[in-house]
Amino acid sequence: MRKYQFLVLFLSIILSCCKQDSIETKNVQDSKNDFSIEAKAFLKSKVKNTNGTDLILSLKNNLSSVNFVTDGELFWSGKSEYRIKSIQGLEVPYFTKRNTINLYNLRKSFYEETARDKEQRVNFSYTNMLFSKVSDDSNLQAIFVTYIPDIGVIKNLDYFKTGSRMTLNSIDHNFNGYIEYKSLDNQVLAVFYLEQGKVRTKYSVDDQPTIAQRGANSTSLTCQTVCTPVYGTICVTAPERGDGGEICTLKVVGQSCKQVCTGTDPNPEYPNPGGQAPGQQTYPTAKVKDFIVKVFEPCDDFKENTALGQKFESEMTDLLSGNSGESFVCFTEKMLEFLSTNDAGLKISLCLNATANQATYNPITKKLGFKDEINIDSRNIFHELFHAVQDRIYPNGISQYLSVGKAEIEFETHLFIDLVGRLVSNPPIALYDTEDNYKNFLNGLTTDNNGNRNLYNARNYFNSDSPISQSYNTYKAKFKERYSAYNSPNSNLAPLAITHFLNNFNCYL
Ligand SMILES: [Zn+2]
Repeated sequence: MRKYQFLVLFLSIILSCCKQDSIETKNVQDSKNDFSIEAKAFLKSKVKNTNGTDLILSLKNNLSSVNFVTDGELFWSGKSEYRIKSIQGLEVPYFTKRNTINLYNLRKSFYEETARDKEQRVNFSYTNMLFSKVSDDSNLQAIFVTYIPDIGVIKNLDYFKTGSRMTLNSIDHNFNGYIEYKSLDNQVLAVFYLEQGKVRTKYSVDDQPTIAQRGANSTSLTCQTVCTPVYGTICVTAPERGDGGEICTLKVVGQSCKQVCTGTDPNPEYPNPGGQAPGQQTYPTAKVKDFIVKVFEPCDDFKENTALGQKFESEMTDLLSGNSGESFVCFTEKMLEFLSTNDAGLKISLCLNATANQATYNPITKKLGFKDEINIDSRNIFHELFHAVQDRIYPNGISQYLSVGKAEIEFETHLFIDLVGRLVSNPPIALYDTEDNYKNFLNGLTTDNNGNRNLYNARNYFNSDSPISQSYNTYKAKFKERYSAYNSPNSNLAPLAITHFLNNFNCYL
């Protein structure tokens, strides 16, 4: 047995020492007990310009807008071998100075990413080369797997703390972000979105989309053309530098437009991260329609089967299906239930309102208005629904707080969105991300003593005297500085709607 292993090893050393461009993978097919020997031989047969046992790759980059050669190196000492069901996998860390990262932003976030955030995401993205076989006697294939985290989770990841890389078989349970599969010539094969280490959505990607036809496809919710900046590290050789080294900078090296479709068909060729089938969830259309009928009184242009009505319905479906974050599902449902049973018979109008900034809930007329079609958006809907809930929880409604008290009403809304978002590691919106204390304050409210994400601590906090004491007031003051539009005279309104939620709705409790 050992003798046999040595023989295989010896054979492969001979093979790799002598530069042959095409080595039959058959030669090493019997070495099932060392997948990496087979993988190395496979790679040598596929990639020209291999150089010794380190297998330095030289691959043509295929993006039309970018035209440079990718020089990469595989670090075999960091390899990880595993099985996902019948699929045998081997991941090897791949390093290149000229890696390009597609920053997919297919998910809606309340948080607006800055240029610095994007650079951070690129810096904490990495690529492994994956060698896999669907079954023991099927063909070996090699692809690139790139892990691209969301900005809100980077600091929680093991990769940030220790530098250890995930594999498809060891997904960090804190990981929110994209996993991209690319062929060796850089064609995107598939993209997954994961939330808290679990697949939420699988996307199929067409690198050469037909010309984007905005609006033409408005009834199809499954495909969209997305254009994302492609970041790459550009290195310039600087002979004037004493060390003869290169100067490398991270830059936008192009733009890549792709037709991205959500798909449920599992492609057995590529393993699902974590081994599960994608958790594609859609909320029953009938239930969404039912909520709309019970809560809203649509204006004519918002009626069922109008373009605006359909947009509203699809954005509501997004919220209720967890496409804006799993934690938003429960809170959206509870708000809609609350609005449909409380003040029975009084419905909220649903109209366009050209004077709105983006969207507005008017507590005097009980009208929910959107500036235009683009602003009929799940984020705006969630924000304004909360105002409608506030309107029914505060004694005599919130129309009395249109000037004095406005800051409290708006701060409570932002804080609420941050509490819900923090449950799925979204970056906060009420204050800048640089305000670490606020983030810690939210983490304390949304994490229990065992490190689980829930709202037990929040319920205790908002039922004590704390909310109208120190920290709440400190962050409210900073919020008013940040959003001058909400800088109204101080009132001492306590966050009644959040407290009502925590005491009456069983979300994350
Ligand atoms: Zn508001």
